[in-house]
This record gives sequence, C-alpha cells and structure tokens, in this order.
Amino acid sequence: MNELQQPVTALKGVGEALATKLARLRIATLADLLFHLPLRYQDRTRITPMGTLKAGQEAVIEGEVAAASVVQGRRRSLLVRLKDGSGIISLRFFHFSPAQQQQFRPGVPLRAFGEARAGATGLEIYHPEYRLLASGEAPVEEHLTPIYPTTEGLNQARLRALIGQALALLDRHPDDLRDWIPEALRERFGLPELRHCLHALHEPPPEADLDSLADGHHPAIRRLALEELLAHQLSLRQVRLRIQADGAPELPSGRGLQARFVAQLPFSLTGAQRRVLDEIAADLQRPLPMLRLVQGDVGSGKTVVAALAALAAIAGGCQAAVMAPTEILAEQHFRTFRAWFEPLGIEVAWLAGKLKGKARLDTKAALLDGRAQLVVGTHALFQDDVHFQRLGLAIIDEQHRFGVHQRLALREKGEAAGLTPHQLVMTATPIPRTLAMSAYADLDLSVIDELPPGRTPVQTVAVPDERRPEVVARIRHACAEGRQAYWVCTLIEESEALQCQAAEATRDELTEQLPELAIGLVHGRMKAAEKAEVMAAFKAGELDLLVATTVIEVGVDVPNASLMIIENPERLGLSQLHQLRGRVGRGATESFCVLLYHPPLSAHSRERLAVMRETTDGFRIAEKDLELRGPGEVLGTRQTGLAQMKIADLERDRDLLERVGELAKALLEQAPEASEPLIQRWLGDEAGRYGQV
Ligand code: ADP
Ligand code: MG
Repeated sequence: MNELQQPVTALKGVGEALATKLARLRIATLADLLFHLPLRYQDRTRITPMGTLKAGQEAVIEGEVAAASVVQGRRRSLLVRLKDGSGIISLRFFHFSPAQQQQFRPGVPLRAFGEARAGATGLEIYHPEYRLLASGEAPVEEHLTPIYPTTEGLNQARLRALIGQALALLDRHPDDLRDWIPEALRERFGLPELRHCLHALHEPPPEADLDSLADGHHPAIRRLALEELLAHQLSLRQVRLRIQADGAPELPSGRGLQARFVAQLPFSLTGAQRRVLDEIAADLQRPLPMLRLVQGDVGSGKTVVAALAALAAIAGGCQAAVMAPTEILAEQHFRTFRAWFEPLGIEVAWLAGKLKGKARLDTKAALLDGRAQLVVGTHALFQDDVHFQRLGLAIIDEQHRFGVHQRLALREKGEAAGLTPHQLVMTATPIPRTLAMSAYADLDLSVIDELPPGRTPVQTVAVPDERRPEVVARIRHACAEGRQAYWVCTLIEESEALQCQAAEATRDELTEQLPELAIGLVHGRMKAAEKAEVMAAFKAGELDLLVATTVIEVGVDVPNASLMIIENPERLGLSQLHQLRGRVGRGATESFCVLLYHPPLSAHSRERLAVMRETTDGFRIAEKDLELRGPGEVLGTRQTGLAQMKIADLERDRDLLERVGELAKALLEQAPEASEPLIQRWLGDEAGRYGQV
C-alpha cells in the first residue's frame, strides 16, 4: 500500500469534519498535505535581545516582568513591562482575565512571541503568545515556524501537526512519494531531491534564507515549481498523443487546385508563406492529425496560408472548416473565402450562433451531406448538433481564445468518417519561441516571419489628449484626400456596456466636429448583422471614419484605411496595441497611428508607448510585453491551463518556463514511465477531464 496516497482520515484524530475542512484547501491525501506549502515563516528559533528589536519585527523575546498594571487609554488594557538587560518592551492585552493579570508579578520570567510595534510606551507587542518560564530554559523551536494558508476552523498548530505527521510518514516510506525526476536530470538541471525540498520548506533550519523563501527563489521552491510546470507540459504532450492516437485523412497534395488559386491572386506568396505551407503540406500527407500553430504578425498573410491548406483538404475529398473568435471576423473570412473559392467551383457555407431557422438547417444539411466543402463560422461550428460528412481540416484563427479542451473536442467532429481532422491554429500574437513551446506543447510551431513586400511601416506618435483638436483636424485632412480612418475607444471599466456608451458619445462628438464626414460606429453590443453592415460600408468606402471599440482588434482588413487614433492607449497591453495598429498600413500609402493618451503617464506607460513608437516588429513588441506584463498576461493563462498552478508562478518563474521544454524532452527519453505519475500528482482530476473528451 502507498501510505501517502491514503486519505487524510488515515491520520490519527482526523475525522470527516476535519477532512471536509482540508478539502477546502484542496487537500485530500497525505501527499496533498506535503504539497501544501507555507505562505511565510516565523523565526522562533532564537531569542532576540529586546534592545535590538525594531518596529515591525516578529520575534521571540525573553525577560522578566518589571511591572504590570491596568491602564486607561482610549481602551482599557493590561500593560506588562518586560526587561532583559538589553532593553525593555511592553506587552499589551486589551482582553484579559483577572487570573492572567495575577500571573505577571514582578520578577516572573517570561517568553513571548509577537510583532513589535511602536506604541505609547515605546516598542509594544499586542496580544503576544507567551509562556511563563518555570525553571531552567525551555528550548526554542528547532526549525523556522511555517505559516500555512488555512481555512476557517483549522488553526495553524493543527495544520502544522498534520503536515508534521505526513512528513514523518514520508521519512518512514520514502518510496511512497517518489522523486520522478531521475538523479542524472536533477544534477543536470540543478534540482534538489524531492524529499529534501519538502523538508526544507516545511521545516526550514534556523539558518535558512528567509528572503529566498519569501520571494520564491529558494532552490526547493524552484524545484517544485519546475516539477509542476513539467507536469503541465507533459499533460499537453499527452493531449497531443491522445489526439494523434486516431488516424487522420491523408491529404497528399492539392497542387492542381492550389495552383489555380494562386494564379488568381494579385500577388505572389512570400518566402515565409511558402515555407510554412510546405510544413503544413508535410503534416497533411501523414495519416496522423496535424496539430500545428502558425504564428505570424498582423498582416503577414495568414489567411492565404489557411486558404491553401483548406484547398489541400478539399482536393483530397474532405471538408474544411474555418473558425474565427468573433462574428465580425468570421463574416470577413466568409466573404474572403467565398470570393476566392466560388470561382474554383467550391461551395462555401456560413454558420454562426445567430444563424437560425431554415438557414441554419440548410447549412447543417449541406455539411452533413458533404455539399458544403468549406464552412466558415464562429464557435457555433463545433457545437454538438453540427455534423460533418467528412471533416478533414479545422482551421482556427486567433488561437489565444481557443483552449486545449476545445482542441480535444474537435476530435469528435471527424467521427462520422472515423477520422480525426487535422488542426491548424493561427495566431497573430507572436510569443517568443521558448515560451510558446512550453505553453503550447501540444502543437508544432510554424512562424511566418516576413511581411509581404511594399508595406510602408506605420508611423506612430503619442499625443496628449489636450491636443485632441489637432488630431481631429488630421482626420479631416486624411479623409479629404480620400483616405479612411479608425477611432478606437478603449475599455473604460471592466464593463462592455460602459465601453459601448463611451464609443457612442465619441461618435456623437466627432459627428459634430466633422460634419462633412460619414461616420460609422461598431461596438460589441450591436447585433451581428448591424456590425457587419457597418463594416461592409467602411470596407466599401461609404464611411470615412469608423469609431469602434476594441472589437475590431483582430483581422479586419481595409487597405484604404491609413489613420488610426487609439484613445487612452495606456490602458492596453502592447500586444493588443500592436494588433489594433495592424489594421492600418495594409495598403501602399503611408499610414499613421496616433496614441491619444491621458496625461500624466506613469513611467511604465511612458515606456510602453515609447516601444510602440520605436518599432512595428511584432516579435520585439511581444518580447517587451512579456518583460513589462509577464507571461501570464501575454499568454492569456486561462486558455493555456497555466492559471491553476499551485506553486509555480509565471511571473516569478519565467526562466523556468523557458527550461521546462528541455526537461520534458529529457525526461521522456530517460524515464518515460515518470510522465503519468507526474501528471497525476500535479493535475490529478484535471488531467482526467482532458482524458475523457
Ligand atoms: P493576417 O496575417 O494579419 O491575417 P491577412 O491574411 O489578412 O493577414 O493579410 C493581410 C493583407 O495582405 C491581405 O490584404 C492579403 O490579401 C495581403 N497579402 C497576403 N499575402 C500577401 C503577399 N504574399 N503579397 C502581398 N500581399 C499579401
Ligand atoms: Mg488574420
């Protein structure tokens, strides 16, 4: 029997009531107790001379009572003066019993623990823990005292005792909590042994480095954090194996069809597009589902790449699906793909959540009987009631809103044909390679690292909002020359409603100031049809100026738009600003982006806006974003499953995130049997959920 996998109730004195409390801390087994790490520590291992104590310091002091009396301040309190030869300090009790009062006779030796603060009588400790010293020295604590996260009805002493029991059990049965990282790898990566780490964290020796324990740089914490990241990485790789356990249609080559498509394009493909297409073609030819992430900066031409991949599927007798995160984007893709594919005799269907009634039934029927060869839509595409005749390829645009679970769910869409569709995921968020490889370990990575030729980089300026009239004049001027402009209103509060109101107010104001212009508005609360209508009008040049919320962030393509105003850019992350800015600079004319900020700017905001002015290189901006905001924000942790971590902290452990891929690879080579237990240890049920899909 594995002692440490037993439920907590296996411990003496732990009944159902206590087990319920522990469950609130996500502690079910004895091993869970061991991975419940302290928030901080108290040093009760030495006695601090009173004369050296400072306000704010937590310490054990020892001395004898000099005097004790009840005093009337704002509140009545018992004040006990304690001296130790080096100094004097007061213990103050606001709640006390007569018996307690009796204890503190002058000359009585006393040991107390608490936080010193500056009080009316000099340094004071309010309600210290204390003990009268009977005769001789009672020993101080042997280890630093851990303070754990706890829950109502469970005090520190009790929790500490339980964890102490679990540690003792671990020492008696060291094999019951195996260190799954082999010694050779521990050495290579500089990782202390697991059991040693757990002792170091639950019972640090008096000389332990409290600072590194507090800030997480202690080797024991780093080791556990790395192990946790490793487990996540391994589970992503497992997702990949699960998806690839089933066959996929072999799609040898759609060369003929692809050549006809390319011939009708008004441009030739960039080298980067060709290279990525080759990588995709190689995947599609294998009877294993492709799982590929294509990263490419805004405007790098991902849509054409998607189209060519779809043609390979269609030429191979399969259906392809293109999913976008918003209706606006999906609609735009729908139009683009229809314009591209209908001349080739390919039927393109549309499906979004708002498509109802007969139209919906028609699309569903066309997907089921295979008439529709390509379908474009939103998440609605992957709902349960949508069935494909033979889905061979699913293309997902803008990866960061699409999670691992959905990726697994996609598998089912190929079930009718007994085949899992290939998956092509596209994102404009250029994440540094090492980071991408750990966050998306279930995907292969392709990068379109070249923009189509002939683009003039967008000129970016930052302007304080008191110069708004100049900016308005600039719009007037650009539109008079036949160009178009965007005015982007950023989030005011975490409220879409307010954001939309603000956009409406801005539209009204600009309409007043620029009466000669045709001004449109799009925001998240408008009906999809309304939004599409406005976008279409803007694209057709019927509108000069489009006031929008950040809903236009991704993908919208209007080459004639050459001016963008972003209001309060200091509220947005760099990557988001970069995405927005990518809406302009799509044509041959020189484009401008005005960052209309609200002064005063913090140093941090100034630095961010400076980055936007200095570069248009998405990868450099992503690097900077990572530096300024940390990986959690940049990756959108909710989708990557990196959010629910117990010990690892993406911010603090960024360097670990960059090493974990290497460790995972080495582990799978040297100790593949460790993978499953590590996933189980750190993800437990969650890993199970991935597995069920
Ligand atoms: P994104 O990668 O941001 O999705 P798009 O696919 O929307 O970029 O492409 C941006 C614009 O560049 C589109 O107008 C598209 O037609 C055009 N484009 C794509 N590839 C090329 C190329 N090789 N040469 C010139 N223009 C291209
Ligand atoms: Mg795009």
